[in-house]
Amino acid sequence: MASSAASRNGAPRGGGGARSLAGGNLRSSSYKSRPSQLPGSTLRRSSTGSFAAAGDDGVPGRVRVAVRLRPRNAEEMVADADFADCVEVQPELKRLKLRKNNWDSDTYEFDEVLTEFASQKRVYEVVAKPVVESVLDGYNGTVMAYGQTGTGKTFTVGHLGDGDTASRGIMVRAMEDILADVAPETDSVSVSYLQLYMEAIQDLLDPTNDNISIVEDPKTGDVSLPGATLLEIRDQQSFVELLSIGEAHRIAANTKLNTESSRSHAILMVHVKRSVVSQDDTLSIENGNSSHFVKPLRPLIRKSKLVLVDLAGSERVHKSGSEGHMLEEAKSINLSLSALGKCINALAENCAHVPVRDSKLTRLLKDSFGGTARTSLIVTIGPSPRHRGETASTIQFGQRAMKVENMLKIKEEFDYKSLSRKLEIQVDKLIAENERQQKAYEYELERMNQEAQNRIAEVERNFAEALEKERLKCQMEYMESVKKLEEKMLTNQRKHGSDGIIRNECNGEVTLLYFSFLRKLLQNETQRRKASEEEVNKLNTRMGQLMQSEAGGDGEILRIHQLLEVETQKKKKLEEEVMILKSQLLQLSYEADQSRRYMERVGSGNGLNGTDSPSVNNGEKAPVGTLFEQVGLHQILSYLESEDANVQIHAVKVLANLAAEEANQEKIVEAGGLTSLLMLLRKFEDETVRRVAAGAIANLAMNETNQELIMTQGGITLLTMTAADAEDPQTLRMVAGAIANLCGNDKLQMKLKSEGGIKALLGMVRCGHADVLSQVARGIANFAKCESRAATQGTKNGRSLLIDDGALPWIVQNANNEAAPIRRHIELALCHLAQHEVNAKEMISGGALWELVRISHDCSREDIRSLARRTLNSSPTFRSEMRRLRID
Ligand code: ADP
Ligand code: MG
Repeated sequence: MASSAASRNGAPRGGGGARSLAGGNLRSSSYKSRPSQLPGSTLRRSSTGSFAAAGDDGVPGRVRVAVRLRPRNAEEMVADADFADCVEVQPELKRLKLRKNNWDSDTYEFDEVLTEFASQKRVYEVVAKPVVESVLDGYNGTVMAYGQTGTGKTFTVGHLGDGDTASRGIMVRAMEDILADVAPETDSVSVSYLQLYMEAIQDLLDPTNDNISIVEDPKTGDVSLPGATLLEIRDQQSFVELLSIGEAHRIAANTKLNTESSRSHAILMVHVKRSVVSQDDTLSIENGNSSHFVKPLRPLIRKSKLVLVDLAGSERVHKSGSEGHMLEEAKSINLSLSALGKCINALAENCAHVPVRDSKLTRLLKDSFGGTARTSLIVTIGPSPRHRGETASTIQFGQRAMKVENMLKIKEEFDYKSLSRKLEIQVDKLIAENERQQKAYEYELERMNQEAQNRIAEVERNFAEALEKERLKCQMEYMESVKKLEEKMLTNQRKHGSDGIIRNECNGEVTLLYFSFLRKLLQNETQRRKASEEEVNKLNTRMGQLMQSEAGGDGEILRIHQLLEVETQKKKKLEEEVMILKSQLLQLSYEADQSRRYMERVGSGNGLNGTDSPSVNNGEKAPVGTLFEQVGLHQILSYLESEDANVQIHAVKVLANLAAEEANQEKIVEAGGLTSLLMLLRKFEDETVRRVAAGAIANLAMNETNQELIMTQGGITLLTMTAADAEDPQTLRMVAGAIANLCGNDKLQMKLKSEGGIKALLGMVRCGHADVLSQVARGIANFAKCESRAATQGTKNGRSLLIDDGALPWIVQNANNEAAPIRRHIELALCHLAQHEVNAKEMISGGALWELVRISHDCSREDIRSLARRTLNSSPTFRSEMRRLRID
């Protein structure tokens, strides 16, 4: 049963009236929604930009089929006047009854049943409009008219409605809707108009182009006609003109081919290209934001295609009388149509194989049936019972087509041109930004460079200022010291007149000589300093130039810094030398001071002090003391090791003067000064150094602790060595003084003797200088006194070590020396020796008795005189000898 078949096909039922073919589960309104909101719509984002391939999900969309009944035409009015129509339409039920005979009919259901009174507008709205809206949303769409020749296919699809607006067909109305919806700035609409006849595609917009080939994209399977004329449509008027031109060409072509237009298929292809922007957040475009990391722009382009087809008449060839055509040709004429029927059958039956490739029409409509397009089919029928058979087959075709299920898919691809345009703008913005930043960076670099140069210049200025200040200070100090010394000397000269003139003159000469030497040294230093300052200035200038030229800047700056460092070292050296000069000045003032004291002593008639030790300073705080504080003991000691003999001499002089003050002695020894001084004696190089070092040791040897230290550090050996080979009387005087001090220590008696101290002392008398002899005499007296004390205490018995070492003859010889200091020391020594009986025999034989007797009678000092007398009386040996010699 046809009716049961019809109900099996699942065609939607619904209310009547102007419901569209898209009614039911997919209403017209749903097409209007944006693609991104469509369930299952596929946003193509592959870089290939290819259209949806089979297999992707889409929206199910069955082929919608409407049936339209043409009103009786004039001929039928006459011919069929006595007959009823072969069909009866029930539009409200979407049913159509096809009469079999007077008593029987088949009923069919369609998506839409359009009566002979249906207006063109209504037909467009229910059949085509949903498809057009779909196309505007990015889907492909097809509207196709199928039916017997003369049933109104062309009237429905292609009627231009020249005289009557209301009679305008689907093509004109569709374009009107499309043009109203697209945006001319971003979207484009273009058309091709073709005719397919005997498997040849002719261009209705360019009749010379009469064999256009179909090109199939091997990847996507999409078909296109690159050879066909494609004209962009901007307004309705030009489109209608285009259609009429196409129509004219169609008639002309058919005349030429000796055929009727009913034998050919007319195909209008409308290509709609629309720009859309993805509403996906992650793909949104950032406008006006100069951020470097904008989200990627996602302009999309939707390409859709509306295919409007006015098929050739579906009647069988023989019936319409294709005179003049061979059978093969006749077959070819309807090849496409029969292939279409086969494909629809296959699709309706869900056959595995659909013979799409059998004809050009089926290839062109590949996407319309079983593809991704929204497809509406309108089947046109006439009312005449004479064509009942054709009408029935048309209805059957429509019924089968209703079973074809398409999968609607949106065709979307990246708008690379637009994307590239936008990216170019973005890139330009970034380039500009980069240039700005580069400039800012260069400026900053320049600023930093300038700042560094300023800093260097400032440091150099400060350095030069400090240097100049230091120089001026030294100069001032020097001038002041010289002035003071000159004043002092003048005062001395005036004060002491002729008395001290020889000594003073002598001293003054030395001092002046020394001054001029120092002055010269200072001049030299000043010159050297000036030269290095000039050098520094030169370097600064050069550095400035180099910095300006900026060539190899860093390396050069480094080199200049190194030079500066060298200069700084030089400066340090100069400062050291200035220090030495200062010490020399102080030394000088010290010596001047000593000389003044001497003059004063001579002037006031005072003799040598009791100990007669050299370089003892009992005055107010000496200048050297100040130096000691200023320079520091360690610094002075380090100068002792200087390779510069001049520096060494001054350092040892300063040290000797310091050692003259008892308050300093402990500090000097603690700081290792004694060791340093002994070392100087050991590596004898310079007589002056040796002399002054010996003097310093002599001063240190005044202290009992130091005496022991000198002994333990091998000092006696060094002193005896010096005593043996020195020739300078002053050196010998210092050495003798030192040994004399050691002789006054009870604990060192034995060691002194065993290490040759006494012999060394006696050896020094060879030089005959009174100062030396005086120190030797003092040493002997000290020694004898200690021995006498030890003997009295009972810690020593036995003969005097002095006598053992052969000192007696010299003692006796000098007992009456004309120099008072020598004489007095020897007188004391003789008294001490005589106090012990063990010595008496040797003393008598050595002639000492006579000297003792003389002392007891003649000594100018009363205390010594009585000491001698007591000593002689208390010794039995002396007494008996004196008796023997008849001395009182
Ligand atoms: P086909 O293209 O199917 O061969 P046409 O569109 O040429 O048929 O129609 C044949 C004739 O019938 C034309 O003169 C046309 O104007 C007329 N005609 C077709 N359908 C209708 C209709 N619904 N109302 C009025 N006239 C129609
Ligand atoms: Mg026609």
